Amino acid sequence: KERNPHQPEFIQSVEEVIESLSPVLEKKEIYRKYKILERLTEPERLISFRVNWMDDNGDIQVNRGYRVQMNSSLGPFKGGLRFHPSVNYSILKFLAFEQTFKNALTGMPLGSGKGGADFDPKGKSDEEVMRFCQTFMNELFRHMGQFTDIPAGDIGVGNREIGYLFGQYKKLRNEFAGVITGKNVRWGGSWVRTEATGFGLIYFACNMLSTQKDSLEGKKCLVSGAGNVAQHAIEKIIEMGGTPITVSDSSGFIYDEEGIDKDKLKVIMKIKNEDRGRIKEYLDHYSNAEYHENKEDEEFNPLWDIKADCAFPCATQNEINKKDAENLVNNNMVLVAEGANMPVSKEGVQVFQNSDVMYAQGKASNAGGVAVSSIEMTQNRMGESWSREKVNKQLINIMNTIHKDCTEAAEEFGFKKTDYVHGANIAGFTRVANAMIEQGIT
Ligand code: NDP
Repeated sequence: KERNPHQPEFIQSVEEVIESLSPVLEKKEIYRKYKILERLTEPERLISFRVNWMDDNGDIQVNRGYRVQMNSSLGPFKGGLRFHPSVNYSILKFLAFEQTFKNALTGMPLGSGKGGADFDPKGKSDEEVMRFCQTFMNELFRHMGQFTDIPAGDIGVGNREIGYLFGQYKKLRNEFAGVITGKNVRWGGSWVRTEATGFGLIYFACNMLSTQKDSLEGKKCLVSGAGNVAQHAIEKIIEMGGTPITVSDSSGFIYDEEGIDKDKLKVIMKIKNEDRGRIKEYLDHYSNAEYHENKEDEEFNPLWDIKADCAFPCATQNEINKKDAENLVNNNMVLVAEGANMPVSKEGVQVFQNSDVMYAQGKASNAGGVAVSSIEMTQNRMGESWSREKVNKQLINIMNTIHKDCTEAAEEFGFKKTDYVHGANIAGFTRVANAMIEQGIT
């Protein structure tokens, strides 16, 4: 805390992991001797830079760009870019720290990183977004490379932004290389990358349910967010026979008691991806649904108090507080699996851990996105483009393996097999820690 004042999100994510790891650190002295925790919590490199660009009125705007190169023990730095006004060191360091464990869990050759800018793409024209991305890349390109650091998307960085960023990188370096993932499949991207985080989340949830000989069939599901992760989680829930009944954005949420089906999902995708509109516009198409506008002074989010069987938070960090977690538990939720990174507050996590709800954190359950990014990198290096079926099959295998590794790690250290919090932290930590020891004090 003293080393990182004013970084509450980073401290929250580190404290949660440390609590989980105490049995490992007690049992294995070598991790203490090599000061693994101290080294894991200090980024290898922090980059911060000015991004000035001109808006459509001819006024100059100044933003701050960042890249946190967290840990390269298992491979080149890898993690998304977030464009959102809230972006700062605390948020990016928490995301990069979580990424270390997540990337390790995939079993693929991936180090960890995260980056972005305090830039808000909302309400900006395509031309403004392009100019911003180009200036951002004018600095970031010198820190990237297919064997050094490979960014991807995150909140506010979707297909459009990835295109502009990649285009500028190519111009500056004069090379067409796999230095960014999430590219369009028509120019170097991989099938299923766009869908991978949401699909992977639901594959993971199916694994969780199968430990109870259960499935998603007939389950009512709460989903938050309406972006990349939420949309494809909804798509896969429908495919698996479940019924998504909510969707949200930063202004409010929709509750559609009749369920969101494939046609309704198409409408959501049009509103959010093409029109860049608000989720409230869902009511223009389906007037039977309800809309709840977010209020500043609300103690809890009524979305998480709707009766259902499964909950998939897919918007942003700390969107479920202690009261929300209590509501979910009191409503007898079967499962909570995180699509977003750290969507549950520290107190909320404790509520889940002391309950019968099966609960998985994003490190494990949302790792499908970065796993398919790694598959995209492999295709880029080999100069190949694999089929949708092949990539999807690999994604399913990876999520199954992550699930197995988590349950085995939990059991090995005396926790319940379905304690995914301890299982994921321990399995991820062990992989990175061993690599750090084997590579010496660098
Ligand atoms: P998008 O930008 O595509 O969507 C984010 C969604 O969350 C939007 O609907 C947005 O609403 C909503 N949102 C953002 N901030 C808030 C807030 N403060 N309160 C309520 N809603 C909010 O991002 P992604 O779907 O890519 O990312 C969502 C989460 O998943 C993030 O935590 C991200 O780190 C995580 N993640 C993403 C991966 C990926 O592959 N994309 C991989 C692994 C994790 P609005 O439209 O109003 O901004």
